[in-house]
Amino acid sequence: MYRNEPLTAAVAEVVANAMKDWAVEKGATHYTHWFQPMTGKTAEKHDSFIEPTGDGKVIMEFSGKQLIQGEPDASSFPNGGLRATFEARGYTAWDATSPAFLKDDTLCIPTAFCAYTGEALDKKTPLLRSMQAVSKNAVRVLRLFGDTETVKVTSTVGPEQEYFLIDKRLYQDRKDLIFTGRTLFGAMPPKGQELDDHYFGSIKERISAFMKEIDEELWALGISSKTKHNEVAPAQHEMAPIFSTTNVASDHNQLVMDTMVKVATRHDLVCLLHEKPFAGVNGSGKHNNWSIATEKANLFAPGKTPHDNAQFLTFLVATIAAVSKYAPLLRMSAANAGNDHRLGANEAPPAIISIFLGEQLNDIIEQIKAGKLTSSTEAGFMDLGVTTLPDLPKDVTDRNRTSPFAFTGNRFEFRMCGSAQSISGPNIVLNTILAEILGEIADELEGAADFKVKLSEILERLVKEHYDVIFNGDGYAEDWVAEAEKRGLPNIKTTVESLKVFSQEDVIDLFTSQQIFTKEEILARQEIMFEEYAKVINIEALVSVEMAKKEILPAVNEYIASVADSILSIKTAVPSVDTSAQEAIVTELSELYSTATVKLAELEVAIAETVAKEDIEEQAMDFKFVVFKAMEALREPCDILETKVAEDFWPFPTYSDLLFRV
Ligand code: ADP
Ligand code: MG
Repeated sequence: MYRNEPLTAAVAEVVANAMKDWAVEKGATHYTHWFQPMTGKTAEKHDSFIEPTGDGKVIMEFSGKQLIQGEPDASSFPNGGLRATFEARGYTAWDATSPAFLKDDTLCIPTAFCAYTGEALDKKTPLLRSMQAVSKNAVRVLRLFGDTETVKVTSTVGPEQEYFLIDKRLYQDRKDLIFTGRTLFGAMPPKGQELDDHYFGSIKERISAFMKEIDEELWALGISSKTKHNEVAPAQHEMAPIFSTTNVASDHNQLVMDTMVKVATRHDLVCLLHEKPFAGVNGSGKHNNWSIATEKANLFAPGKTPHDNAQFLTFLVATIAAVSKYAPLLRMSAANAGNDHRLGANEAPPAIISIFLGEQLNDIIEQIKAGKLTSSTEAGFMDLGVTTLPDLPKDVTDRNRTSPFAFTGNRFEFRMCGSAQSISGPNIVLNTILAEILGEIADELEGAADFKVKLSEILERLVKEHYDVIFNGDGYAEDWVAEAEKRGLPNIKTTVESLKVFSQEDVIDLFTSQQIFTKEEILARQEIMFEEYAKVINIEALVSVEMAKKEILPAVNEYIASVADSILSIKTAVPSVDTSAQEAIVTELSELYSTATVKLAELEVAIAETVAKEDIEEQAMDFKFVVFKAMEALREPCDILETKVAEDFWPFPTYSDLLFRV
């Protein structure tokens, strides 16, 4: 496992048998090859261990072959056209580096999933490939610094998971939450998050009971759930595990999301993982804390004296260069329909990729840029060798919560990821772009006559070339957008625009040369992502239509009629009473009612026209710029109506109910 060597059949047999014994001892009757297709969710098909013995009895068996390989049908999973060219058969292959686990009565074996001809059809295969690529190139760089021992560098990740918890009964009265995971209508309650009273606030008993059970379930699965707290928005919370190897962290994060959803229902709660369940309060992200490490040391640990630590500076500068060079790709890795409400919309972080380094490292980068560190070798800069310095006495960086890519002492925190997303995509990109830059650095250094001179030259050049991506200020500020534009940094606001990056020539070159994806795999994935986007907005639009037509407008009508009736009754009882105030209500609501009716009709036309588009990319663009806009236009009068119609008439729970009645 450690050396990434394949398993022999004989060893597999023994391992399989031991795994079965362990699982059966704990009550398991089934096993499954657990994998992560392009849906972003997990998939499992359960087979029991039983094998007939011929005398009418059965024994529990599990062979090495059953452990290593499965053959599910690949045709019913998103495959972006790969299936049209190749057979429907698919394979699952055991990922021995991620521990198996028990879920209910089933032994779950983490696997990779690919087509009959080897094309990856899942999120894990390319992730494993990217881990190999970054390992290979990082080891090459380490060799140049005199490390003769390290055979493998692992990328590590600690994903912080944000989520909302709301009451199950209220949830069940909202079609939008049931079908789309977010509210498509809803006026702001009188109170939102403005008092800053929820973040780190004391945890309600009901929520606390949920969190306790989550911890226990996760620990039983071997997931080190570590931190839990209330988040900024009302009803929003966070959980963070202890970091682990990227593929394990990614498997675990899928299990964390599954477990949260499952455990919530036991507490009559519903866990919303959507990136933006409620307009007007914060959405949810998934901060991807990422680093690379040898068995002995974290390569992003600056040590006590970072300016002396040439090896650390090399990895640091390589990361800066990688993130700067491939900023649009990294941004794309966090793109989905849900995250569009956060990135580049009216919520932070912005869609502009920049890097926060903190004062001390920034100072060093400035010096490298000015050629100062490199010219004064007596300052000790070129103290080579692998630095395995002990932990820092204090953080070398302050915190910056507004940066999409922040150095946080011994790792980078990529803060753009969406809460419901698989973390595979972002980590595939991070590993791959770093692998490429490290490879280029190694290429240059390996042929250098004078290592020190060459290294100084490379670092100075890279820092100068990519300096503009560094930004230590407030990433949420208005003027940063203008400043970033001046610097020429890309600001790709929407998923549909950012997905185009995937098939750019430089991106295809990157992925094919690092052997992460073939060109066919890239194009297939791009198609899957456009398709997914289009489907999500289509569902949202259809639910909007249904709620407006069958719930909101009829309720408004009923209320208008009841006010009108009451005017009549009043007039009949006491003809001299002035009912102009009541009449004004009828007039105002009727006007809003007709506006909503017009917008509803426009949305229906927009949906029909967009669905008719043949080209998937064009269709996705129209879903964003025509259908989504029409949905917002319908929402506006409906939300105003919500604030004017009597509570008893409103057809579903409001934001006040959902956010404050947990
Ligand atoms: P924050 O204060 O940023 O909210 P948290 O404690 O919620 O911090 O999460 C920090 C995450 O970073 C944890 O999952 C932690 O295990 C992870 N982490 C720490 N060191 C590393 C590392 N070297 N590589 C990857 N992740 C790390
Ligand atoms: Mg946190």
